[in-house]
Amino acid sequence: MPGHFPVYGATGGNGSKAYQCSDCAAVITYSDRLLSIGDVHRHLFVNPFGISFEFYTFASCPGVVAHGEATDQHTWFPGYQWSFAFCQNCGQHLGWFYEAVSKDTIPRGFWGLLVTHLLTR
Ligand SMILES: [Zn+2]
Repeated sequence: MPGHFPVYGATGGNGSKAYQCSDCAAVITYSDRLLSIGDVHRHLFVNPFGISFEFYTFASCPGVVAHGEATDQHTWFPGYQWSFAFCQNCGQHLGWFYEAVSKDTIPRGFWGLLVTHLLTR
């Protein structure tokens, strides 16, 4: 259908697994919102300081807020700039929000949330 695009995160539940903040247990997103970037939705990157980060990429995270100025410095995803992402309930740093620099880039944005900062059940 022309002009019709899938709406990510319009629903939760339906048997999908909930991901919760490791600090306050607030539900922040669901497994049906996992989004593959470069064919995988689980990533491992090492920052310039040699610290490794393992995280999932999601199309939407209703319980997370992005904060701060976006930057493309040391970005792990070329074409995307990032800002910090925090739990909306307790403010714990959970990961990053990636936003496409060019409006022609698909997806327009996605979330990268640290495996160690999520609880699943
Ligand atoms: Zn929290």
